Amino acid sequence: KWNEIPLAPPDKILGISEAFVKDTNTKKINLGVGAYRDNNGRPIIFPAVKEAEKILYGLETEKEYTPIIGSKKYQNIVKNFIFNNSNKDPNGKKLIDEGRIVTSQTISGTGSLRVIADFLNRFYSSKKILVPKPTWANHVAVFNDAGLQPEFYNYYDKSANDLEFESLKSSLLSQPKESIVLLHACCHNPTGLDLTPEQQDEVLQIIQDKSFYPLVDMAYQGFASGDPYKDIGFIRKLNSLVVDGKINSYALCQSFAKNMGLYGERTGSISIITESADHSKAIESQLKKLIRPIYSSPPIHGSKIVEVIFDEQYQLLPKWLGDLDAVVGRLNTVRSKLYENLDKSSYNWDHLLKQRGMFVYTGLTSEQVIKLRNDYSVYATEDGRFSISGINDGNVEYLANAINEVIKK
Ligand code: PMP
Repeated sequence: KWNEIPLAPPDKILGISEAFVKDTNTKKINLGVGAYRDNNGRPIIFPAVKEAEKILYGLETEKEYTPIIGSKKYQNIVKNFIFNNSNKDPNGKKLIDEGRIVTSQTISGTGSLRVIADFLNRFYSSKKILVPKPTWANHVAVFNDAGLQPEFYNYYDKSANDLEFESLKSSLLSQPKESIVLLHACCHNPTGLDLTPEQQDEVLQIIQDKSFYPLVDMAYQGFASGDPYKDIGFIRKLNSLVVDGKINSYALCQSFAKNMGLYGERTGSISIITESADHSKAIESQLKKLIRPIYSSPPIHGSKIVEVIFDEQYQLLPKWLGDLDAVVGRLNTVRSKLYENLDKSSYNWDHLLKQRGMFVYTGLTSEQVIKLRNDYSVYATEDGRFSISGINDGNVEYLANAINEVIKK
């Protein structure tokens, strides 16, 4: 029967890296996968992370399993850092103190999405999950595989290179009550364009009116402003609505892959905000029951790095915040350098300057992206998303010239 198994297509994003590696052109540029590169085109380890690893080397005396949902220490760090905005959100503090936040370490952001999708499929009233159009391709795959039914709500108008907020609202309003709705916390992937705080309020009103279940995905905390504490406005709004009794519950998938550079360490979390400490107990027990037969317990190295960075005695937190700010600063520099070098006489590139995070959503057609690949060895996903950390002083002019040429034809 094995000969009846059809060949699966390569992953839309990771497949690009495979093609890139095979290309022998010395000018080739990889703008595919969302992983940070420095100005020399090389991946980095955040200096604060390297220091944390040195400390861990001296500290660790065993490699025992961590509990199914990770260590209490890790859970508490995540809760305070994100929901209490490190002691700056009284609503988040109240929710934590009342035992209304259940947090589990997960296998990074993807694992977190899969765990909550499985959980919602098992316990929630609706299978329908509304995702922005476009969204990270893996969202749809994860939710489908978990048995949920993803459906798009309008988000971005590709012809105008802008949010389409009116049709976003109407497409949400046309959906059945109690649907799950996925929202990107910041640095929407792939468009780099987020809702304004006022637009967030309007969406939150729709969520209340339609009794939608909010599921927030936060993979790029810190990449919008350079400061992770400033990028969680949406979570603060949700916390306040929960405390006021206007929303009963929401869930947050979070990852340290990008903002601590812990990609391969697979370090993230799922948090579910509940109605009471009693609910929390039951939900936590069910999360454990769900995770145990899948991977038993999460990996420990990444979460221990997080624990050391947040441990006051080592003074690494400010260093990490500085490292992150430098990464985001470079991305912003690269974004404006690309903009400067693009030919604005035949194409309006202003949308680039509004976008935030690791990507620019160029608006190029798939034909143009393919032409960039074939003629210039510039690799990007066919939706015209560029992972801009692949750009540096050495290649920005070559890239802009290639784009200018491709636009002309
Ligand atoms: N959500 C979004 C929107 C993402 O872009 C990513 C990574 N590309 C993830 C989740 C998950 O990433 P990871 O599993 O590496 O934490």
